[in-house]
Amino acid sequence: MYRSVLVFRVTTKEVNGKDAQLLDRLVFSILTTLSRPRRSLVVNVRGPADVQAAFAFAEQTGVRVIIKNSGHDSLGRSSGPNTLAIRTTTLKNLTYIPEFVPEGCNHVAPRPAAAVGAGVIFQESYPFAEAHNISLPGGACPTVSPGGGYTLGGGHGMMVNNYGLGADRALQFKIVTPTGEFLTANECQNTDLWFALRGGGGGTFGVVLETVQLALPRNPVQMIQIQDFDNTDENTRAYMKIVLEHTKEWALQGWGGFVQLNEFQYINAIISPEEAIEAMKPLTDWAQTVDATIIQKTHDSYVTYWQEFLFPVDNPTGLPFAVASRLIPADNFETDEKREELLNATLEAAAGHDAWFGFATTPFKYGANKNTSATPAWRNALWHAIVEDFWNFDTTSGQQQQILQNLSSSIDAYRKITPGSGAYLNEADINEPNFSESFWGSNYDRLVSIKDKYDPNHLLDCWRPRNANQAGLMEKESWGTPLELLWENICHCDSDIVRLHCRAMCPDIQKEWNEISSLRSGAKTTSIDGFTLSMPALIAVARYCIPTAISEDAGVKERVEASADFVVRMSEPGAKGSMYGVNTGVGASDRTALQRVILKNLTSGILPIETAGNDNYLSSHHDSSLLLPESWSRGAMLLRLNTLLRGHSGCRWIVIERLHALLANNIIPSPPLRQSISASGDLAPLGYIASALTDEVVVPVWSGKGTDRKRTTSIEARKAHGIESIIYGPKEALAIVNGTGPSCAVGALALHDANILALTAQLTTAMAIEALNGSPETYDPFIHDIARPHPGQIEVAVNGRHLLKGSTFARMHDESDPAQKLRQDRYGLRTAPQWIGPHLEELTSARATIEIEMNSTTDNPIIDLENERNLGGGNFQGTSIALVMEKVRIGLQHLGKLVHAQFVELTSPHMNRGLPPDLAAWEPSLDFGVKTMDVATAAYLSELSFLGNTVTNHVQNAEQHNQAVNSLALISARYTFHAIQVLYMLYSNLIWALCQALDLRAMISIFFKRLESEIKASFVNIGLSESAHAALTKHIYDQARVRFGETSQMDSSTRFTELLRPLVTDVLDFLAKEGEGVSSTKFDALEWRTTLASQLGKIYREVRSQYYENGSAEGMMGNTVHLYRYVRKDLGVPIRKGGDIDTEGVDVQLSRIYRAFERGGIIEPVLKCFKQ
Ligand SMILES: Cc1cc2nc3c(=O)[nH]c(=O)nc-3n(C[C@H](O)[C@H](O)[C@H](O)COP(=O)(O)OP(=O)(O)OC[C@H]3O[C@@H](n4cnc5c(N)ncnc54)[C@H](O)[C@@H]3O)c2cc1C
Repeated sequence: MYRSVLVFRVTTKEVNGKDAQLLDRLVFSILTTLSRPRRSLVVNVRGPADVQAAFAFAEQTGVRVIIKNSGHDSLGRSSGPNTLAIRTTTLKNLTYIPEFVPEGCNHVAPRPAAAVGAGVIFQESYPFAEAHNISLPGGACPTVSPGGGYTLGGGHGMMVNNYGLGADRALQFKIVTPTGEFLTANECQNTDLWFALRGGGGGTFGVVLETVQLALPRNPVQMIQIQDFDNTDENTRAYMKIVLEHTKEWALQGWGGFVQLNEFQYINAIISPEEAIEAMKPLTDWAQTVDATIIQKTHDSYVTYWQEFLFPVDNPTGLPFAVASRLIPADNFETDEKREELLNATLEAAAGHDAWFGFATTPFKYGANKNTSATPAWRNALWHAIVEDFWNFDTTSGQQQQILQNLSSSIDAYRKITPGSGAYLNEADINEPNFSESFWGSNYDRLVSIKDKYDPNHLLDCWRPRNANQAGLMEKESWGTPLELLWENICHCDSDIVRLHCRAMCPDIQKEWNEISSLRSGAKTTSIDGFTLSMPALIAVARYCIPTAISEDAGVKERVEASADFVVRMSEPGAKGSMYGVNTGVGASDRTALQRVILKNLTSGILPIETAGNDNYLSSHHDSSLLLPESWSRGAMLLRLNTLLRGHSGCRWIVIERLHALLANNIIPSPPLRQSISASGDLAPLGYIASALTDEVVVPVWSGKGTDRKRTTSIEARKAHGIESIIYGPKEALAIVNGTGPSCAVGALALHDANILALTAQLTTAMAIEALNGSPETYDPFIHDIARPHPGQIEVAVNGRHLLKGSTFARMHDESDPAQKLRQDRYGLRTAPQWIGPHLEELTSARATIEIEMNSTTDNPIIDLENERNLGGGNFQGTSIALVMEKVRIGLQHLGKLVHAQFVELTSPHMNRGLPPDLAAWEPSLDFGVKTMDVATAAYLSELSFLGNTVTNHVQNAEQHNQAVNSLALISARYTFHAIQVLYMLYSNLIWALCQALDLRAMISIFFKRLESEIKASFVNIGLSESAHAALTKHIYDQARVRFGETSQMDSSTRFTELLRPLVTDVLDFLAKEGEGVSSTKFDALEWRTTLASQLGKIYREVRSQYYENGSAEGMMGNTVHLYRYVRKDLGVPIRKGGDIDTEGVDVQLSRIYRAFERGGIIEPVLKCFKQ
């Protein structure tokens, strides 16, 4: 669920009391915010004064502080509910210091180093090191901070074996301690602090602003990767046996890396390629026998290796995963018996978990370092062995607890065989037994005394597991259970990067769809209890007719019955006080209406009437357009049931059971589409639903499923299924009809569809970049992560980079290529992250609103059982849904405008970078291509723009002015659905056109290869030197590609003569300058043009025919390929060939794409493109 994070800056001025009023206001607003459940405030640190101010503030007010950087900490130390977070992600300084001498250490020889701000992440420090021809090795994850928790807690990585832990390489720290002192800690001053900061753990001794790290030479790196072998028990054992036998020997040779049960990846920066091959021979020999994939390679540097192999994809940080780990000493690798024991422990530890790693990232070869405080167990260890499990967005806290417990127990297998060893505190079991010993070993006592010295008032204490009854570094007070804090860390992420990943929309949609699929396949079931209904369950029940059960939890029934009893007591003669709708009438007629009359008065909408025979009148309207679609009605029933189960509404259990029986037997009331103003709830549609249970009002229903489904009456359908009628007791009919179920259900369904469209928008934009040979620069992380870090914008860019990965169509701008005329893409491509991103944020927030509404009590009056009160309020007013729907609809219009912009760019020969006009597949004079589709696109967009108007500013007074303000939520949601339908049409057109454009582009790429060789051949016998020949070929080929774009509107019969016409001058100019020895007899310009033009025309037509026969753009596309493949193969939409060749109409093909949207078939392939 979305929780807001307020970000502000405390300035020294305010805290020093020079502006007392301002401080008062500030303190008041902070304390008010923090007093609300699970709120946090954040101070963005720009310098020491901000930290001093934050500590002073904490001291004065008693507010707890935490230090937050990237937010990756798996022990939850960088989070805490109701805290003031001191956030250091803003500290981005990176400076290379070729001759660094720690301050005050005049006797120390200068060394190359780099000053690294606390907020710098590996993704930034690695390219920086490359640019300065040095190495600043670190961890794997691009978004962990070398200047923050990584180094402060130890810091392991692939180069650690030779060069030491991150902490070993830290030469100096700048730190503000909790007492407000701004200190320098190095080997000459504040040496106790220097020791503590080198491995003692982040968030404990103060806020580090900058770390100076030793810079290493940038050496080439030998790497080996082995993977893709059959995972049989026999293979795993054989492979692990070899690995265990050689682990120590490899460590001594300088190797570092990681081992998994099915992959091996090691690097070494201190040996030659030949030595590397020799060292790994035992493993490669075996790997060949099982047909494994073996890659052995020399990289220029650690960073080039890291980019290609370790993190070739954007790292999905913030994923909810938990770890447990153990440092495995060399002793465990020594003998056959020990290795067998270790292998068995490994298999036991890894069993049943999502991942196991043997990280050979310990400082074994580097050796001891008495000036660091990380556990000495590191020094003798060959492996940092780790197990990991992921959990889902809806994993309950009980399940999380279980996962953590399982991880902890699995590591017991290692604990048993490694007595006296320890664990890496940055990647440790949250339930680590005897953690002070494990994380710090013999350094612990000294660290505690340093902590007491620099943090005497314990401002920086953090949580510890409740059951760990020890005083020390990770203690003082438990702020909550570890789980709560872990959850905070994962979901309440304050850092820009992690917040993005936590709240990113795309993974949410993927999970939502997986959940819907599991419910549809029967792998999962769903039940309702009033509080935990999820979007996927609602979609599955409403749209895919999945059954749902009522929770069997006894508490659910108890609270429902207690609320019904309350109503009965209120309706008895002599009851104290009154309850609206029980011992009063309703609405403005509150003295006249009777409870049982309510329903009769609600059925006043317009319904279709069956007419017998054909009276030769042809209606202009579809009868079905008068009715609420069945899925909407199903969703409304489910939400009504869910709300009644909350025990605030006073309905008897039997009413809930009967209403549930209707849904379970697929008896779905069919109310009129219009009539609701969504103020006193959606009275009319809910009136039809409530009436379906009585014998007093007959309402139309759908009954049955699939092909057995028919329209009948409520009484008939109930009779057929043996469901008895209900005579509603006091308040009961009111409890059903007063509520937002219909608008909320329609809103949820619309939001689900809008989310898929938001993904489609990102996907089609990437495809448009490919089809137009656009630039991936649009998605450069600097533009988004650093320069303008709006979470939605960052997410679009992350997705864009992934979608374009591997694409040969998308190209960075190349100044030397004259065919790339535009320096930057047009707005329809280049500003897509900024255009779509804000809508992702809106959709994410819309989802939170809808999820709250789904699990709310929305009738009136409602019962507060605990305090025996009935309260008259207005929870049925649907404004929250109405506004969400308005915003979603505006978003859909914006996506539609983007479709139009991209469509026009694709089809216009002035903008489409050499594609044919209107994407004509045949000769342009004989083929109008997608001209009519272009017109249709404009028509759709116009309609969509009209639908983008707001509904909610058309509110009228209603019901004798009683409902003077009314939300119009259902109307707004209905128009959002109209907008979705029109946007489906726009995307059908765009996707069709994109596939066509990509094919044409692929065909042109093939032709360009031939073009180059033909040009080269045309200059063979004219007497040029080899270099002049190559230079002329390149120049003419470059210019020919420019001319190819300029002549795209011509038929192939004349195009190439025209293409070459100005190039003749280029050739002659070149020969005049460079063509020594070329006489006019050898080069006849006219002849050259005529022959080459005719040849090129022939080749072009040949390439085109061959491509139309069996060509495909797949091999040149990025991760967008899955949608292209789906359209071409699954939907059977072939490339349009033009002329008289095509047998099927385009309309039929567009309809198939539209239907894939409408029926959800497109969701899987769209999601597949985003899967990382
Ligand atoms: C996907 C992933 C991959 C990882 N890969 C590696 C790896 O390869 N090698 C490795 O060693 N570790 C790795 N880690 C673990 C990582 O080192 C820890 O999570 C570490 O605590 C992160 O530090 P941070 O500052 O980035 O994060 P945060 O969670 O923001 O901070 C971690 C701790 O440091 C404290 N802290 C942060 N900044 C400061 C500061 N400026 N001053 C004082 N205290 C501070 C925080 O209060 C907290 O206690 C990985 C973690 C993840 C999630």
